[in-house]
Amino acid sequence: MEFFDTHFHYEGDLSPQVIAKEAAAEGVQYLACIGGDYNSSLEAMKFAEAVENCYFTAGVHPHYAANEKWDAEKFKILLSHPKCKAVGEVGLDFYYENSAKELQLKIFQCFCKLSASLHKPVVVHCRDKDNCFDAYNLVYDILSEYVSDGIGSFVIHCYTGNLEWMMKFLDIGGYIGITGIVTFPKAENVRELLVRIPDNKLLIETDSPYLAPKPFRGKTNYPKYLKYVAHEVARLKGLSIEEIAEITTENALNFYSIGTV
Ligand SMILES: [Zn+2]
Repeated sequence: MEFFDTHFHYEGDLSPQVIAKEAAAEGVQYLACIGGDYNSSLEAMKFAEAVENCYFTAGVHPHYAANEKWDAEKFKILLSHPKCKAVGEVGLDFYYENSAKELQLKIFQCFCKLSASLHKPVVVHCRDKDNCFDAYNLVYDILSEYVSDGIGSFVIHCYTGNLEWMMKFLDIGGYIGITGIVTFPKAENVRELLVRIPDNKLLIETDSPYLAPKPFRGKTNYPKYLKYVAHEVARLKGLSIEEIAEITTENALNFYSIGTV
């Protein structure tokens, strides 16, 4: 059985070798280390270079949009690395609004344009205030524009929105990422959404070091805990854990164009 943790962040508490070895011992053979600003994208690159079957992404998370001066050239260098498989994590976060909305929007558009020109998929973060959909609307409009313009594909990672928006993102070719939130007692909405995701559009992820699944909730999360997400996904989908491993790993390899080009 082989799993692919399609989304984790490296924060340096353990070495890349230890994280990858512990993950592999739990069946998590493939990893995608996600950048959140220029420096963490560089760290993600070093992580990916240090271990086999690990890839990385480069981008600026909406939380950090205000801290980054847009510089396409320096990101283009990272994005041309053979192990760099996507632009991300980019998007809009109107829930925390750590950066002004206009800045978030500008950085997100710049990265979508860049990914379209490089034909790279995009790892998207989208969060809105409860019962508000401004961020979803804008993310959807921007992705629709660039999907027809060359973005390989995109994933709405850690999806916690409603069914209607999920269907819209699926309709324009998006993937949906499911994290350990699916194991949280109050996340009934995520469990209901999960069963509506077509098997070929489902990605699983830890988003570690955040969002540790039950029974590690509140503790530091690691890629090795992906199987707790996978077990819950398998249970809800009525599939075996082996089937979930096969389906989601194949999807991840397709999404990141690994071994397919
Ligand atoms: Zn993330």
